[in-house]
Amino acid sequence: MHITDIIRKAGAEGKPRFSFELLPPLKGDGTQRTFEAIDPLMEFSPIFCSVTYHREDVKYVEKENGLLERHTVRRRPGTVGISAAIMQRYGLTVIPHLICGGQSRYDIEDALIDLDFLGIQNVLALRGDNLKGEHTFRNHPDGHLHASELVEQIERMNRGVFIDGEVEQCHNTNFCIGVAGYPEKHAEAPNKAEDLRRLKEKVDAGAAYIITQMSFDSAKILSFIDDCRAAGIDVPIVPGIKPFSTKAQLTMLPQIFHVDLPEALVETVKRCNNNAEVREAGVEWAIAQGRELIAAGIPVLHFYTMGKTDNMVKIARALF
Ligand code: FAD
Repeated sequence: MHITDIIRKAGAEGKPRFSFELLPPLKGDGTQRTFEAIDPLMEFSPIFCSVTYHREDVKYVEKENGLLERHTVRRRPGTVGISAAIMQRYGLTVIPHLICGGQSRYDIEDALIDLDFLGIQNVLALRGDNLKGEHTFRNHPDGHLHASELVEQIERMNRGVFIDGEVEQCHNTNFCIGVAGYPEKHAEAPNKAEDLRRLKEKVDAGAAYIITQMSFDSAKILSFIDDCRAAGIDVPIVPGIKPFSTKAQLTMLPQIFHVDLPEALVETVKRCNNNAEVREAGVEWAIAQGRELIAAGIPVLHFYTMGKTDNMVKIARALF
């Protein structure tokens, strides 16, 4: 089923629902931990889960002659496989993320064919982060520079147009394409208006829904949705919420995700004696945020779990 239909159905039923993001297992890990994270959430009937895509890390290996050799390794491969495994085990709709970074258009086409054969009809199309240590995004020589180009490729494939031209088909792909939106602006965008214009380009290229970057401020999320509507972006927008969980996130989250932390949240976290207390405070903040967004008529909330869902269970019990 397409995510857009699932979201619209949730809206029509008038009962708030949730979805969550997972990471694929680290290389060498099996599926066990992933399933253990999902198991306790199933009684709250999540409407979908998404699985991140991780590009390669750069690693330098010293050779016998003392010279350093540059290697790239992927620490979390398996997005497609774990997505299919989750779908098979739980019957849950899964959205694998797909990124431009490190991939040619042919790699992407192959991945889409795999997803199609596995019966996965939803994807989240992203540019991807920069390679570690690089300050600007570099695309694969035969890849895409912006997520909008990836959306175009998937959309063309849905119309039966593959990279090397039209294919005489007896089967069409039917992907429902989602993209990322940024309530607090993407870090590289010169201003909010320009970022919104780029978001509209992705929707015009074929994106049918938006999942937002985390924001700890519901007013910012709601104002972003208003701005999208005013800019003519009329697809469903699913706000992303991150349950705060460690003191280190006070510096890490603004640095990595370029989001502001409300003063009240910072003060609460600073008063905590340990990370167990921070995790509880994070649950309370996420519940309060969830209540504000649900009261404003948002039908579906998306939670960033990082693969640990004990806190998510408490949030789900309070809200859904
Ligand atoms: P784009 O839409 O391409 O935008 C990137 C920047 O370029 C923006 O500043 C935009 O304004 C600008 N821009 C867009 N088009 C143009 C153009 N034509 N000309 C000039 N500027 C332009 N990263 C991963 O590596 N793996 C994941 O699984 C992953 N999942 C994510 C899930 C969500 C919900 C979100 C919000 C982010 C996720 N990310 C992930 C991070 C994401 O890849 C980064 O934020 C990345 O820097 C931007 O991706 P994008 O798809 O928004 O890019």
